[in-house]
Amino acid sequence: MIRMAGVDKFFGPLHVLKGINIEVPKGQVVVVLGPSGSGKSTLCRTINRLEPIDSGDIEVDGKRLPEEGKALAALRADVGMVFQQFNLFAHKTIIENVMLAPMKVRGVKEPEARKLAQQLLDRVGIANQADKYPAQLSGGQQQRVAIARALAMKPKVMLFDEPTSALDPEMVNEVLDVMTTLAKEGMTMLVVTHEMGFARKAADRVVFMADGEIVEDTTPEEFFTAPSSDRAKDFLGKIL
Ligand code: ATP
Ligand code: MG
Repeated sequence: MIRMAGVDKFFGPLHVLKGINIEVPKGQVVVVLGPSGSGKSTLCRTINRLEPIDSGDIEVDGKRLPEEGKALAALRADVGMVFQQFNLFAHKTIIENVMLAPMKVRGVKEPEARKLAQQLLDRVGIANQADKYPAQLSGGQQQRVAIARALAMKPKVMLFDEPTSALDPEMVNEVLDVMTTLAKEGMTMLVVTHEMGFARKAADRVVFMADGEIVEDTTPEEFFTAPSSDRAKDFLGKIL
C-alpha cells in the first residue's frame, strides 16, 4: 500500500503539494484527477523520491521512504512507474528492455529473466514482437512494453502518470485494457489519467486535486454524479 501523510513540496516559492494525505490500500486502484498544474505528476514522483519532499511522511508497503542509498534503491525496485513517454531503450530489443532491470537490480540470471519477460510480453499481448526494436512498434505497443518492463520487477505498487496521453486515440484502449486487467488481478495502483471511462470502471476511489490540494477523495460513483466542491463541478463541466 501507499500512504502519504501531511506531505508538502515546494519548487522555490511555489507550494505545489499542500499537506497531502492519501492512502492506497493493498489491492486498490486510486485514480487522481485534476486540472493541469494541480500537482498530479509531482505527487507521483514524490512516491519513489524522484522528487524530494519538504515535510510529511510517505510509506510504501508499510516502510517509510528512505532518503538515499541502498534502502532507497530497494524501495524504488518495489514501485513500478509508467509515464506518458515510454522511455524504452532504443538500441535494445523489446525483450531485452523487459529483462534488463530484473538482471541488473534483482540479480536474476539471464535464462530466467528471458522466461519471465516472455511471459509478461504475452500477458500484455505482444509476445510476437519480442525481438523487434521499440521504433518498430506502435505507441500503444511501446506503452504495453513499458508496463511489462515495470511488472518484471515484481513491484508491490504501480504508479501511472497519464500513460495514454501521448497515444493516438485508437491505441488508448489497448493500454487501458492491460491496466484494467492488472487492477482486477489485485495490483495496488495509483493512476493519474484523463480517461474518465477508466476512472469510472476501474477505480476504487477518485482523488481530485486542485492547486496542490486534495479537494475530493471519494468513490467514482459519487464523484461523477454528485461532486461536492465547485472546483470539481467546474472541472467535470469542462471535460464531460
Ligand atoms: P499536468 O496535468 O499538466 O501534467 P500536473 O497536475 O501533473 O499537470 P505538475 O507537473 O505536478 O502538475 O506541476 C505542478 C506545479 O509545479 C506546476 O505549477 C508546475 O509548473 C510546477 N513544477 C513542476 N515541476 C517543476 C520543476 N521541476 N521545477 C519548478 N516547478 C515545477
Ligand atoms: Mg502531469
